Amino acid sequence: MTSEDTIVAIATPPGRGGLGVVRLSGDRAIEIASSLIRLPKLPLETQRATRAEFCDPESGKALDEVVVTCFRQPHSYTTEDVVEISCHGAPVILRYLVECCLERGARAAEPGEFTLRAFLNGRIDLTQAEAIRDLIEARTLYQARVAAQQLEGSVSTRLKPHKEVLLDLIARLEAGIDFAEDDVAVMDWQEVLARLDRIRGDLSKLVEGFDYGRIVREGLSLAIVGRPNVGKSSLFNRLLSQERAIVTPIPGTTRDLVAESASVGGIPLRFIDTAGVRETLDLVEKLGVEKTFQAVADSDLRLLVLDVSEPWTEEDSRLLSKVRPLGSLLVACNKSDLPRLISRAELEEIVLADVPDAGPGLVRQLTDQADPAGAGVGLTAVSERENSPPEVVWTSALTGQGIPELQEKILALAAPARGLGAEGEFITNLRHQQLLKQSLQALDKARLAAEQKTPHEMLLLDLYDALRPLDLITGATYADDVLDIIFKTFCVGK
Ligand code: GDP
Repeated sequence: MTSEDTIVAIATPPGRGGLGVVRLSGDRAIEIASSLIRLPKLPLETQRATRAEFCDPESGKALDEVVVTCFRQPHSYTTEDVVEISCHGAPVILRYLVECCLERGARAAEPGEFTLRAFLNGRIDLTQAEAIRDLIEARTLYQARVAAQQLEGSVSTRLKPHKEVLLDLIARLEAGIDFAEDDVAVMDWQEVLARLDRIRGDLSKLVEGFDYGRIVREGLSLAIVGRPNVGKSSLFNRLLSQERAIVTPIPGTTRDLVAESASVGGIPLRFIDTAGVRETLDLVEKLGVEKTFQAVADSDLRLLVLDVSEPWTEEDSRLLSKVRPLGSLLVACNKSDLPRLISRAELEEIVLADVPDAGPGLVRQLTDQADPAGAGVGLTAVSERENSPPEVVWTSALTGQGIPELQEKILALAAPARGLGAEGEFITNLRHQQLLKQSLQALDKARLAAEQKTPHEMLLLDLYDALRPLDLITGATYADDVLDIIFKTFCVGK
């Protein structure tokens, strides 16, 4: 990749559509585009959309009516000359236009290369580049809002004062060493400690907020379990249609699993309905063995559905005792619109009773498997909460009663840190979290060094170690491999 090339790509998604956009960026973008389009008047006006014709270079005849927008450097996405040609969304035309650009000397853009150029040319920092990717991939409006805040630079803005304090400390300590005999005023140890603690406090908050940020970014899964006919599918449908932002039907991991995603409070939630396996009466025995129940165990949350219009059954007990130790659990007492054959007090006594430990080590094992780095969300929370009583909600999938409360409870359990702050006040990116942790480790060492009043040279090493990861987050001092990882996850044309 070199910035001297002029790059070209189709910027709209593959397939047919009303419109399709071909984007060019680089020194020759305007020249190449101009040679392929016929304009009502020359030259191509900048920062303005102009109607034109894409002329087939072979026949010289108009092939499509297009709208051309030209952005002159540095006022463009990449800060280079950029031309966007908006055609009708016929893949053959778009591909042909790209081919014509290639023949005239443009090069096919790599995934994420337009955004990479914006970064390399200093228009955006790394956190903003990542935010562009998150914005494009957002599945809920809330996710988009969070990404938009990051695109405005919320992460960098939050880190900036800390970097300045660290730099100031480093500068003073360096000066103290270099000009020791000149009596340069060096901060006293208490002041150094106070400054380090302020940074540590704020960075720790950011790291802690990541649990929630990750949920916002990646979503969660919730498995619905219960014996036949208690209303699992009905609840599944209720939960899905409550908020109309249904995303995509996801094929289940097995033939019998039905899984769909929906936005609940802006968080993408993947609901897994196990109704498909209801005929398998020995399902309880197979728990943890069958693939289906692996999905139940692997889910971040589980919803056990009971039918309160029927007496409590042995199978309810068995399901409860199997599901309970797997971690975060909600219990829906469904069909509460019908006369109850089990009283609320009785039910709550059974459900909330302290269930003895699961024993077989399934939870531990799953927790370890799913979370090798110790950074997981749902399952880390599970191990912490495995002994807390399940949340009980009274619902009617028929009338809709209790559904909003159920959603609230799902959110509260899934994302306890919700309401942590505004969209820009938490991090959503694992790379950022890992770097913040590195910085914190170095700050802890620095604190110890300051407490023990070790020579400044030693303290300085720790301070540099704390600063470096913060720089890597924004890309102030970046490594090529970091860039590779980030921009490879983009699609072509972005
Ligand atoms: P599943 O086998 O657990 O998935 O249960 P279904 O969702 O298929 O529901 C079984 C039957 O119970 C259907 O006839 C539903 O209409 C009915 N049903 C489900 N939820 C309720 C409810 O809250 N109240 C009443 N009265 N009927 C319900």
